[in-house]
Amino acid sequence: MAKNRMLQFVTVAKETPEKRPANLRAQDFHEIYREYAAEKAAEQAGRCSQCGVPYCQSHCPLHNNIPDWLRLTAEGRLQEAYEISQATNTFPEICGRICPQDRLCEGNCVIEQSGHGTVTIGSVEKYITDTAWENGWVQPIKPQAERTESVGIIGAGPGGLAAADMLRRKGVQVTVYDRYDRAGGLLTYGIPGFKLEKPVVMQRIEQLEEAGVQFVLNCTVGVDISFDAIRGQHDAVLIATGVYKARDIAAPGVGAAGIVKALDYLTASNRKSFGDEVAEFDSGALNAEGKRVVVIGGGDTAMDCVRTAIRQGATSVKCLYRRDRANMPGSQREVQNAEEEGVEFVWLTAPKGFTGAASVEGVMVQRMRLGAPDATGRQSPEVIEGADYVEPADLVVQALGFEPEEIPALWGVPELAVTRWGTIRADFRSHETSLPGVYAVGDIVRGASLVVWAIRDGREAAEAILDYLAQPAQVAAE
Ligand code: FAD
Ligand code: SF4
Ligand code: SF4
Repeated sequence: MAKNRMLQFVTVAKETPEKRPANLRAQDFHEIYREYAAEKAAEQAGRCSQCGVPYCQSHCPLHNNIPDWLRLTAEGRLQEAYEISQATNTFPEICGRICPQDRLCEGNCVIEQSGHGTVTIGSVEKYITDTAWENGWVQPIKPQAERTESVGIIGAGPGGLAAADMLRRKGVQVTVYDRYDRAGGLLTYGIPGFKLEKPVVMQRIEQLEEAGVQFVLNCTVGVDISFDAIRGQHDAVLIATGVYKARDIAAPGVGAAGIVKALDYLTASNRKSFGDEVAEFDSGALNAEGKRVVVIGGGDTAMDCVRTAIRQGATSVKCLYRRDRANMPGSQREVQNAEEEGVEFVWLTAPKGFTGAASVEGVMVQRMRLGAPDATGRQSPEVIEGADYVEPADLVVQALGFEPEEIPALWGVPELAVTRWGTIRADFRSHETSLPGVYAVGDIVRGASLVVWAIRDGREAAEAILDYLAQPAQVAAE
Protein backbone atom coordinates (compact mmCIF):
# COMPACT_ATOMS: atom_id res chain seq x y z
CA MET A 1 0.00 0.00 0.00
CA ALA A 2 1.29 3.47 -0.89
CA LYS A 3 2.68 5.35 2.08
CA ASN A 4 0.47 8.21 3.27
CA ARG A 5 2.77 11.21 3.21
CA MET A 6 0.30 13.54 4.90
CA LEU A 7 -0.80 14.04 8.54
CA GLN A 8 2.80 13.95 9.75
CA PHE A 9 2.35 16.83 12.19
CA VAL A 10 2.55 14.67 15.31
CA THR A 11 5.92 13.14 14.45
CA VAL A 12 7.44 15.93 12.34
CA ALA A 13 8.04 19.26 14.07
CA LYS A 14 7.44 22.58 12.36
CA GLU A 15 10.60 23.83 10.67
CA THR A 16 10.92 27.06 8.74
CA PRO A 17 13.76 27.39 6.23
CA GLU A 18 17.06 28.19 7.88
CA LYS A 19 17.47 31.81 8.88
CA ARG A 20 20.92 33.27 8.21
CA PRO A 21 22.76 34.21 11.45
CA ALA A 22 21.84 37.73 12.56
CA ASN A 23 25.44 39.04 12.54
CA LEU A 24 25.89 37.95 8.92
CA ARG A 25 22.52 38.98 7.52
CA ALA A 26 22.78 42.41 9.19
CA GLN A 27 25.66 43.18 6.81
CA ASP A 28 23.76 42.87 3.54
CA PHE A 29 20.37 43.33 1.92
CA HIS A 30 19.86 39.73 0.84
CA GLU A 31 16.83 37.78 2.04
CA ILE A 32 17.30 36.35 5.49
CA TYR A 33 15.75 32.91 4.88
CA ARG A 34 17.46 30.24 2.84
CA GLU A 35 15.45 28.00 0.48
CA TYR A 36 14.09 24.64 1.68
CA ALA A 37 15.94 21.61 0.40
CA ALA A 38 13.56 19.42 -1.67
CA GLU A 39 13.21 16.74 1.05
CA LYS A 40 12.55 19.36 3.71
CA ALA A 41 9.82 21.02 1.64
CA ALA A 42 8.15 17.64 1.09
CA GLU A 43 8.48 16.74 4.77
CA GLN A 44 7.04 20.05 5.96
CA ALA A 45 4.19 19.99 3.41
CA GLY A 46 3.40 16.47 4.67
CA ARG A 47 2.54 17.85 8.09
CA CYS A 48 -0.79 19.10 6.69
CA SER A 49 -3.81 17.17 7.92
CA GLN A 50 -5.79 17.84 4.70
CA CYS A 51 -8.74 19.42 6.46
CA GLY A 52 -12.15 18.96 4.89
CA VAL A 53 -12.87 22.60 5.71
CA PRO A 54 -9.45 24.24 5.36
CA TYR A 55 -9.37 27.41 7.44
CA CYS A 56 -5.98 28.25 5.95
CA GLN A 57 -7.67 28.60 2.57
CA SER A 58 -10.62 30.64 3.78
CA HIS A 59 -8.23 33.07 5.52
CA CYS A 60 -6.04 33.49 2.46
CA PRO A 61 -7.34 36.56 0.59
CA LEU A 62 -6.81 34.68 -2.69
CA HIS A 63 -8.47 31.49 -1.40
CA ASN A 64 -5.45 29.55 -2.56
CA ASN A 65 -6.03 25.81 -2.81
CA ILE A 66 -3.45 25.22 -0.08
CA PRO A 67 -4.22 21.60 0.93
CA ASP A 68 -3.91 20.39 -2.66
CA TRP A 69 -0.57 22.03 -3.38
CA LEU A 70 0.76 20.86 -0.03
CA ARG A 71 -0.21 17.28 -0.84
CA LEU A 72 1.37 17.45 -4.29
CA THR A 73 4.56 18.90 -2.78
CA ALA A 74 4.68 16.11 -0.20
CA GLU A 75 4.36 13.63 -3.08
CA GLY A 76 7.18 15.33 -5.03
CA ARG A 77 4.75 16.40 -7.81
CA LEU A 78 6.03 19.96 -7.84
CA GLN A 79 5.04 21.00 -11.33
CA GLU A 80 1.43 20.07 -10.61
CA ALA A 81 1.67 21.87 -7.27
CA TYR A 82 2.86 24.95 -9.13
CA GLU A 83 0.01 24.77 -11.65
CA ILE A 84 -2.55 24.75 -8.85
CA SER A 85 -0.80 27.47 -6.90
CA GLN A 86 -0.50 29.86 -9.85
CA ALA A 87 -4.14 29.35 -10.83
CA THR A 88 -5.30 31.58 -7.98
CA ASN A 89 -2.23 33.73 -7.30
CA THR A 90 -0.51 35.93 -9.87
CA PHE A 91 2.68 36.27 -7.79
CA PRO A 92 2.91 33.25 -5.42
CA GLU A 93 6.67 33.60 -4.88
CA ILE A 94 6.12 37.17 -3.69
CA CYS A 95 3.26 36.31 -1.32
CA GLY A 96 5.19 33.32 0.02
CA ARG A 97 7.93 35.77 1.01
CA ILE A 98 6.05 38.76 2.38
CA CYS A 99 2.48 37.92 3.37
CA PRO A 100 2.05 38.23 7.14
CA GLN A 101 1.18 34.54 7.25
CA ASP A 102 0.79 34.60 11.03
CA ARG A 103 -2.28 36.81 10.53
CA LEU A 104 -3.63 35.02 7.43
CA CYS A 105 -3.24 31.41 6.28
CA GLU A 106 -0.83 30.07 8.90
CA GLY A 107 -2.47 31.87 11.79
CA ASN A 108 -5.63 29.88 11.03
CA CYS A 109 -4.10 26.46 10.42
CA VAL A 110 -5.81 23.89 12.65
CA ILE A 111 -2.49 22.31 13.54
CA GLU A 112 -1.37 25.63 14.96
CA GLN A 113 -4.63 25.78 16.93
CA SER A 114 -3.98 22.29 18.33
CA GLY A 115 -0.53 23.32 19.56
CA HIS A 116 1.65 21.48 17.02
CA GLY A 117 2.96 24.53 15.19
CA THR A 118 1.46 25.67 11.89
CA VAL A 119 2.18 24.12 8.54
CA THR A 120 4.77 26.46 6.96
CA ILE A 121 2.44 27.41 4.10
CA GLY A 122 4.23 30.57 2.96
CA SER A 123 7.65 28.93 2.77
CA VAL A 124 6.26 26.02 0.76
CA GLU A 125 4.45 28.40 -1.61
CA LYS A 126 7.72 30.27 -2.17
CA TYR A 127 9.60 27.02 -2.68
CA ILE A 128 7.12 25.71 -5.26
CA THR A 129 7.24 28.86 -7.38
CA ASP A 130 11.00 29.43 -7.09
CA THR A 131 11.43 25.84 -8.28
CA ALA A 132 9.00 26.50 -11.14
CA TRP A 133 11.07 29.49 -12.29
CA GLU A 134 14.31 27.49 -12.04
CA ASN A 135 12.86 24.64 -14.09
CA GLY A 136 11.24 26.77 -16.77
CA TRP A 137 7.69 25.81 -15.77
CA VAL A 138 6.58 29.43 -15.60
CA GLN A 139 5.26 29.86 -19.10
CA PRO A 140 5.42 33.11 -21.10
CA ILE A 141 2.04 34.85 -21.33
CA LYS A 142 0.73 34.15 -24.83
CA PRO A 143 -2.84 35.23 -25.54
CA GLN A 144 -4.70 32.86 -27.84
CA ALA A 145 -6.02 35.78 -29.88
CA GLU A 146 -5.37 39.52 -29.86
CA ARG A 147 -8.24 41.86 -29.08
CA THR A 148 -8.58 45.44 -30.20
CA GLU A 149 -9.77 46.86 -26.86
CA SER A 150 -7.21 48.60 -24.71
CA VAL A 151 -7.01 49.22 -20.96
CA GLY A 152 -4.92 51.91 -19.30
CA ILE A 153 -3.63 51.04 -15.83
CA ILE A 154 -2.35 53.86 -13.64
CA GLY A 155 0.12 52.45 -11.12
CA ALA A 156 2.55 49.55 -11.59
CA GLY A 157 2.30 48.13 -8.06
CA PRO A 158 0.97 44.63 -7.32
CA GLY A 159 -2.67 45.69 -7.86
CA GLY A 160 -2.02 47.16 -11.30
CA LEU A 161 0.34 44.36 -12.35
CA ALA A 162 -2.05 41.58 -11.29
CA ALA A 163 -4.76 43.15 -13.46
CA ALA A 164 -2.30 43.68 -16.34
CA ASP A 165 -1.37 39.99 -16.22
CA MET A 166 -4.97 38.77 -16.37
CA LEU A 167 -6.06 41.20 -19.07
CA ARG A 168 -3.08 40.47 -21.28
CA ARG A 169 -3.66 36.72 -21.01
CA LYS A 170 -7.07 37.42 -22.59
CA GLY A 171 -5.48 39.34 -25.45
CA VAL A 172 -6.43 42.85 -24.28
CA GLN A 173 -3.97 45.64 -25.16
CA VAL A 174 -2.58 46.89 -21.84
CA THR A 175 -0.63 50.07 -21.07
CA VAL A 176 0.65 50.66 -17.54
CA TYR A 177 1.56 54.21 -16.52
CA ASP A 178 3.79 54.88 -13.50
CA ARG A 179 5.57 57.90 -12.12
CA TYR A 180 8.60 55.91 -11.07
CA ASP A 181 11.40 54.84 -13.40
CA ARG A 182 10.86 51.16 -12.55
CA ALA A 183 7.64 49.19 -12.28
CA GLY A 184 6.65 47.26 -9.13
CA GLY A 185 5.38 50.03 -6.83
CA LEU A 186 6.18 49.31 -3.21
CA LEU A 187 7.49 45.86 -4.18
CA THR A 188 10.35 47.66 -5.91
CA TYR A 189 10.95 50.83 -3.89
CA GLY A 190 9.24 50.30 -0.50
CA ILE A 191 9.87 46.77 0.72
CA PRO A 192 13.59 46.15 1.40
CA GLY A 193 15.62 43.42 -0.28
CA PHE A 194 16.09 41.48 2.96
CA LYS A 195 12.35 40.65 2.76
CA LEU A 196 12.00 40.57 -1.03
CA GLU A 197 15.03 40.51 -3.31
CA LYS A 198 14.52 42.72 -6.33
CA PRO A 199 15.26 40.15 -9.08
CA VAL A 200 12.15 38.29 -7.83
CA VAL A 201 10.05 41.35 -8.74
CA MET A 202 11.93 42.22 -11.93
CA GLN A 203 11.47 38.76 -13.44
CA ARG A 204 7.69 39.25 -13.23
CA ILE A 205 7.91 42.66 -14.87
CA GLU A 206 10.04 41.19 -17.67
CA GLN A 207 7.42 38.47 -18.11
CA LEU A 208 4.75 41.15 -18.58
CA GLU A 209 6.94 43.18 -20.97
CA GLU A 210 7.64 40.07 -23.04
CA ALA A 211 3.89 39.45 -23.14
CA GLY A 212 3.39 42.83 -24.79
CA VAL A 213 2.30 44.93 -21.81
CA GLN A 214 3.42 48.50 -22.53
CA PHE A 215 5.02 50.34 -19.61
CA VAL A 216 5.05 54.14 -19.72
CA LEU A 217 7.41 55.03 -16.88
CA ASN A 218 8.53 58.39 -15.47
CA CYS A 219 4.98 59.49 -16.21
CA THR A 220 2.98 61.13 -13.43
CA VAL A 221 -0.69 61.16 -14.25
CA GLY A 222 -2.02 64.64 -13.54
CA VAL A 223 1.35 66.19 -14.49
CA ASP A 224 2.86 64.53 -17.57
CA ILE A 225 -0.44 63.29 -18.94
CA SER A 226 -3.98 64.14 -17.91
CA PHE A 227 -6.41 61.60 -16.59
CA ASP A 228 -8.86 62.66 -19.30
CA ALA A 229 -6.24 61.92 -21.97
CA ILE A 230 -5.80 58.42 -20.55
CA ARG A 231 -9.56 57.89 -20.54
CA GLY A 232 -9.69 59.08 -24.12
CA GLN A 233 -6.99 56.65 -25.23
CA HIS A 234 -8.38 53.50 -23.62
CA ASP A 235 -11.67 51.61 -23.47
CA ALA A 236 -11.38 51.17 -19.71
CA VAL A 237 -9.07 52.55 -17.02
CA LEU A 238 -7.82 51.05 -13.76
CA ILE A 239 -6.50 53.28 -10.97
CA ALA A 240 -3.96 51.48 -8.75
CA THR A 241 -1.92 54.35 -7.38
CA GLY A 242 -1.44 53.28 -3.76
CA VAL A 243 -1.22 55.68 -0.81
CA TYR A 244 1.82 57.91 -0.50
CA LYS A 245 1.04 60.93 1.66
CA ALA A 246 3.09 60.36 4.82
CA ARG A 247 1.48 61.24 8.15
CA ASP A 248 3.64 63.86 9.86
CA ILE A 249 4.42 64.25 13.53
CA ALA A 250 2.97 67.51 14.79
CA ALA A 251 5.68 68.40 17.31
CA PRO A 252 8.09 71.34 17.75
CA GLY A 253 11.33 71.01 15.82
CA VAL A 254 9.98 68.51 13.29
CA GLY A 255 11.35 70.54 10.36
CA ALA A 256 15.02 70.14 11.41
CA ALA A 257 17.50 68.45 9.10
CA GLY A 258 17.93 64.78 9.96
CA ILE A 259 14.19 64.14 10.46
CA VAL A 260 13.09 62.22 7.39
CA LYS A 261 10.08 60.35 6.03
CA ALA A 262 10.13 56.56 6.01
CA LEU A 263 9.42 56.08 2.34
CA ASP A 264 12.07 58.61 1.24
CA TYR A 265 14.52 56.73 3.41
CA LEU A 266 13.56 53.25 2.14
CA THR A 267 13.36 54.33 -1.50
CA ALA A 268 16.89 55.77 -1.35
CA SER A 269 18.15 52.52 0.15
CA ASN A 270 16.39 50.39 -2.46
CA ARG A 271 17.72 52.58 -5.25
CA LYS A 272 21.27 52.09 -3.93
CA SER A 273 20.69 48.34 -4.04
CA PHE A 274 19.86 48.72 -7.75
CA GLY A 275 23.19 50.56 -8.15
CA ASP A 276 21.56 53.96 -8.83
CA GLU A 277 23.19 57.29 -8.02
CA VAL A 278 21.24 58.73 -5.07
CA ALA A 279 22.46 62.18 -4.13
CA GLU A 280 20.59 62.30 -0.80
CA PHE A 281 22.08 58.98 0.21
CA ASP A 282 25.62 59.94 -0.81
CA SER A 283 25.32 63.27 1.05
CA GLY A 284 24.37 61.35 4.19
CA ALA A 285 20.88 62.86 4.42
CA LEU A 286 19.19 59.48 3.85
CA ASN A 287 22.00 57.23 5.07
CA ALA A 288 22.20 55.89 8.64
CA GLU A 289 25.89 54.99 8.57
CA GLY A 290 27.66 55.99 11.80
CA LYS A 291 24.49 57.57 13.22
CA ARG A 292 22.29 57.12 16.25
CA VAL A 293 18.96 56.35 14.61
CA VAL A 294 15.50 56.68 16.11
CA VAL A 295 12.52 55.34 14.17
CA ILE A 296 9.06 56.44 15.27
CA GLY A 297 6.18 54.03 14.63
CA GLY A 298 5.21 50.42 15.24
CA GLY A 299 4.02 49.13 11.87
CA ASP A 300 5.69 47.10 9.15
CA THR A 301 7.19 50.22 7.58
CA ALA A 302 8.90 51.08 10.88
CA MET A 303 10.26 47.51 11.07
CA ASP A 304 11.71 47.87 7.57
CA CYS A 305 13.33 51.18 8.52
CA VAL A 306 15.02 49.92 11.69
CA ARG A 307 16.40 46.88 9.92
CA THR A 308 17.61 49.00 6.99
CA ALA A 309 19.42 51.32 9.42
CA ILE A 310 21.20 48.34 11.00
CA ARG A 311 22.41 47.22 7.56
CA GLN A 312 23.63 50.71 6.70
CA GLY A 313 25.93 50.66 9.75
CA ALA A 314 24.08 52.81 12.28
CA THR A 315 25.82 52.97 15.67
CA SER A 316 22.49 52.40 17.45
CA VAL A 317 18.90 51.89 16.31
CA LYS A 318 15.91 52.48 18.58
CA CYS A 319 12.25 52.14 17.74
CA LEU A 320 9.78 54.28 19.70
CA TYR A 321 6.19 53.05 19.82
CA ARG A 322 3.39 54.48 21.92
CA ARG A 323 1.76 51.15 22.78
CA ASP A 324 3.36 47.91 23.98
CA ARG A 325 4.60 44.88 22.11
CA ALA A 326 1.29 43.04 22.27
CA ASN A 327 -0.58 46.00 20.81
CA MET A 328 1.70 46.98 17.95
CA PRO A 329 0.39 46.70 14.38
CA GLY A 330 3.62 45.29 12.91
CA SER A 331 4.26 41.57 12.55
CA GLN A 332 5.71 39.86 15.64
CA ARG A 333 7.95 37.85 13.35
CA GLU A 334 9.51 41.06 12.06
CA VAL A 335 10.00 42.42 15.60
CA GLN A 336 11.86 39.28 16.52
CA ASN A 337 14.02 39.51 13.40
CA ALA A 338 14.79 43.15 14.21
CA GLU A 339 15.69 42.37 17.82
CA GLU A 340 18.01 39.57 16.71
CA GLU A 341 19.74 42.06 14.40
CA GLY A 342 20.33 44.55 17.23
CA VAL A 343 17.33 46.91 17.21
CA GLU A 344 16.14 48.16 20.60
CA PHE A 345 12.39 48.65 21.04
CA VAL A 346 11.33 51.32 23.48
CA TRP A 347 7.67 50.49 24.10
CA LEU A 348 5.13 52.96 25.48
CA THR A 349 6.94 56.07 24.29
CA ALA A 350 5.91 58.94 22.02
CA PRO A 351 7.76 61.98 20.63
CA LYS A 352 6.89 65.35 22.14
CA GLY A 353 9.40 67.41 20.17
CA PHE A 354 12.93 67.47 18.87
CA THR A 355 16.11 69.09 20.21
CA GLY A 356 18.81 70.69 18.07
CA ALA A 357 18.82 73.83 15.98
CA ALA A 358 19.59 73.34 12.29
CA SER A 359 19.98 69.56 12.64
CA VAL A 360 18.22 67.20 14.99
CA GLU A 361 20.17 66.19 18.10
CA GLY A 362 17.55 64.33 20.06
CA VAL A 363 13.94 63.31 20.48
CA MET A 364 12.00 64.62 23.47
CA VAL A 365 10.23 61.48 24.58
CA GLN A 366 7.10 61.11 26.68
CA ARG A 367 6.53 57.87 28.54
CA MET A 368 3.06 56.38 28.11
CA ARG A 369 0.84 53.82 29.79
CA LEU A 370 -2.15 51.99 28.38
CA GLY A 371 -5.45 53.36 29.68
CA ALA A 372 -9.08 52.34 29.23
CA PRO A 373 -10.14 50.62 26.00
CA ASP A 374 -11.58 52.91 23.30
CA ALA A 375 -14.71 52.24 21.17
CA THR A 376 -12.80 49.59 19.19
CA GLY A 377 -11.76 47.80 22.38
CA ARG A 378 -8.11 48.87 21.95
CA GLN A 379 -6.44 50.43 24.99
CA SER A 380 -5.58 54.09 24.42
CA PRO A 381 -2.10 55.28 25.36
CA GLU A 382 -1.97 58.00 28.06
CA VAL A 383 0.97 60.24 28.93
CA ILE A 384 2.75 59.62 32.26
CA GLU A 385 3.34 63.14 33.54
CA GLY A 386 6.86 64.09 34.66
CA ALA A 387 8.56 61.09 33.05
CA ASP A 388 9.89 62.80 29.89
CA TYR A 389 13.47 62.34 28.74
CA VAL A 390 15.62 63.12 25.70
CA GLU A 391 16.76 60.32 23.41
CA PRO A 392 19.91 61.39 21.52
CA ALA A 393 19.55 61.02 17.75
CA ASP A 394 21.39 62.02 14.55
CA LEU A 395 18.74 60.62 12.23
CA VAL A 396 15.01 60.34 12.99
CA VAL A 397 12.75 58.39 10.65
CA GLN A 398 9.01 59.08 10.82
CA ALA A 399 7.03 55.93 10.04
CA LEU A 400 3.51 56.81 11.10
CA GLY A 401 1.61 55.50 8.10
CA PHE A 402 0.25 56.83 4.85
CA GLU A 403 -2.84 58.56 3.54
CA PRO A 404 -4.18 58.93 0.02
CA GLU A 405 -3.35 61.91 -2.13
CA GLU A 406 -6.32 64.09 -3.21
CA ILE A 407 -6.73 62.41 -6.56
CA PRO A 408 -9.95 64.12 -7.74
CA ALA A 409 -8.33 67.54 -7.23
CA LEU A 410 -4.88 66.54 -8.52
CA TRP A 411 -6.34 64.99 -11.66
CA GLY A 412 -9.12 67.53 -12.23
CA VAL A 413 -11.91 64.95 -11.89
CA PRO A 414 -14.18 66.15 -9.07
CA GLU A 415 -16.81 63.61 -10.16
CA LEU A 416 -14.53 60.74 -9.06
CA ALA A 417 -16.11 59.85 -5.70
CA VAL A 418 -13.92 59.34 -2.65
CA THR A 419 -14.67 58.25 0.91
CA ARG A 420 -14.30 60.51 3.92
CA TRP A 421 -10.77 59.15 4.30
CA GLY A 422 -9.91 60.26 0.77
CA THR A 423 -9.66 56.72 -0.61
CA ILE A 424 -11.39 56.12 -3.94
CA ARG A 425 -14.92 54.79 -3.60
CA ALA A 426 -15.26 51.59 -5.61
CA ASP A 427 -17.73 48.74 -5.76
CA PHE A 428 -16.77 45.96 -3.37
CA ARG A 429 -16.80 43.23 -6.04
CA SER A 430 -16.46 44.84 -9.47
CA HIS A 431 -14.15 47.62 -8.22
CA GLU A 432 -15.88 50.09 -10.54
CA THR A 433 -15.70 53.70 -9.39
CA SER A 434 -18.33 56.43 -9.76
CA LEU A 435 -17.06 56.92 -13.34
CA PRO A 436 -18.27 54.31 -15.84
CA GLY A 437 -15.46 52.16 -17.17
CA VAL A 438 -13.04 53.39 -14.51
CA TYR A 439 -11.99 50.91 -11.85
CA ALA A 440 -9.80 51.23 -8.75
CA VAL A 441 -7.93 48.67 -6.64
CA GLY A 442 -5.37 48.17 -3.89
CA ASP A 443 -4.28 50.69 -1.29
CA ILE A 444 -5.93 53.66 -3.01
CA VAL A 445 -9.26 51.98 -2.22
CA ARG A 446 -8.47 50.09 0.98
CA GLY A 447 -6.01 52.51 2.58
CA ALA A 448 -2.56 51.12 3.47
CA SER A 449 -3.06 47.35 3.25
CA LEU A 450 -1.22 44.28 1.98
CA VAL A 451 0.22 43.03 -1.27
CA VAL A 452 -2.03 39.97 -1.30
CA TRP A 453 -5.17 42.14 -1.10
CA ALA A 454 -3.93 44.33 -3.95
CA ILE A 455 -3.40 41.18 -6.05
CA ARG A 456 -6.88 39.95 -5.25
CA ASP A 457 -8.42 43.30 -6.15
CA GLY A 458 -6.44 43.48 -9.38
CA ARG A 459 -7.58 40.03 -10.44
CA GLU A 460 -11.22 40.75 -9.61
CA ALA A 461 -11.14 44.10 -11.39
CA ALA A 462 -9.65 42.46 -14.49
CA GLU A 463 -12.62 40.06 -14.57
CA ALA A 464 -15.04 42.96 -14.23
CA ILE A 465 -13.26 44.94 -16.95
CA LEU A 466 -13.49 41.95 -19.31
CA ASP A 467 -17.26 41.86 -18.67
CA TYR A 468 -17.47 45.59 -19.27
CA LEU A 469 -15.54 45.35 -22.53
CA ALA A 470 -17.87 42.58 -23.66
CA GLN A 471 -20.87 44.92 -23.44
CA PRO A 472 -21.75 46.53 -26.78
CA ALA A 473 -20.44 50.06 -27.44
CA GLN A 474 -18.91 50.64 -24.03
CA VAL A 475 -16.05 53.09 -23.93
CA ALA A 476 -14.62 54.74 -20.86
CA ALA A 477 -14.65 58.21 -22.36
CA GLU A 478 -18.45 58.25 -22.69
P1 FAD B 1 1.62 50.45 -4.72
O1 FAD B 1 2.44 49.24 -4.52
O2 FAD B 1 1.83 51.58 -3.80
O3 FAD B 1 1.85 50.94 -6.21
C1 FAD B 1 1.27 52.13 -6.67
C2 FAD B 1 2.02 52.63 -7.89
O4 FAD B 1 1.30 53.75 -8.42
C3 FAD B 1 3.42 53.13 -7.57
O5 FAD B 1 4.36 52.52 -8.43
C4 FAD B 1 3.34 54.64 -7.82
O6 FAD B 1 4.55 55.18 -8.35
C5 FAD B 1 2.23 54.73 -8.84
N1 FAD B 1 1.57 56.03 -8.85
C6 FAD B 1 1.01 56.69 -7.81
N2 FAD B 1 0.47 57.85 -8.23
C7 FAD B 1 0.71 57.93 -9.55
C8 FAD B 1 0.41 58.91 -10.55
N3 FAD B 1 -0.23 60.04 -10.28
N4 FAD B 1 0.81 58.66 -11.82
C9 FAD B 1 1.47 57.54 -12.15
N5 FAD B 1 1.77 56.58 -11.24
C10 FAD B 1 1.40 56.78 -9.97
N6 FAD B 1 2.53 44.37 2.38
C11 FAD B 1 2.68 43.06 2.58
O7 FAD B 1 1.80 42.28 2.22
N7 FAD B 1 3.81 42.55 3.16
C12 FAD B 1 4.84 43.35 3.54
O8 FAD B 1 5.84 42.88 4.07
C13 FAD B 1 4.72 44.74 3.32
N8 FAD B 1 5.73 45.57 3.65
C14 FAD B 1 5.59 46.90 3.39
C15 FAD B 1 6.66 47.73 3.66
C16 FAD B 1 6.57 49.09 3.39
C17 FAD B 1 7.72 49.97 3.69
C18 FAD B 1 5.36 49.63 2.88
C19 FAD B 1 5.24 51.11 2.64
C20 FAD B 1 4.30 48.80 2.59
C21 FAD B 1 4.41 47.43 2.83
N9 FAD B 1 3.37 46.57 2.53
C22 FAD B 1 3.52 45.23 2.73
C23 FAD B 1 2.12 47.06 1.92
C24 FAD B 1 2.11 46.82 0.40
O9 FAD B 1 3.35 47.20 -0.16
C25 FAD B 1 0.97 47.57 -0.26
O10 FAD B 1 -0.24 47.21 0.37
C26 FAD B 1 0.87 47.23 -1.75
O11 FAD B 1 2.07 47.51 -2.42
C27 FAD B 1 -0.26 48.03 -2.40
O12 FAD B 1 -0.27 47.79 -3.76
P2 FAD B 1 -0.86 48.86 -4.78
O13 FAD B 1 -0.72 48.23 -6.13
O14 FAD B 1 -2.21 49.28 -4.34
O15 FAD B 1 0.05 50.16 -4.65
FE1 SF4 C 1 -0.76 32.52 2.79
FE2 SF4 C 1 -0.41 34.79 1.46
FE3 SF4 C 1 0.06 32.50 0.25
FE4 SF4 C 1 -2.45 33.18 0.84
S1 SF4 C 1 -1.08 34.21 -0.61
S2 SF4 C 1 -1.49 31.18 1.14
S3 SF4 C 1 -2.17 34.29 2.77
S4 SF4 C 1 1.19 33.31 1.99
FE1 SF4 D 1 -3.43 21.75 6.20
FE2 SF4 D 1 -3.44 23.55 8.22
FE3 SF4 D 1 -4.75 24.05 5.98
FE4 SF4 D 1 -5.65 22.15 7.60
S1 SF4 D 1 -5.56 24.36 8.04
S2 SF4 D 1 -5.51 22.04 5.36
S3 SF4 D 1 -3.72 21.36 8.38
S4 SF4 D 1 -2.53 23.80 6.19
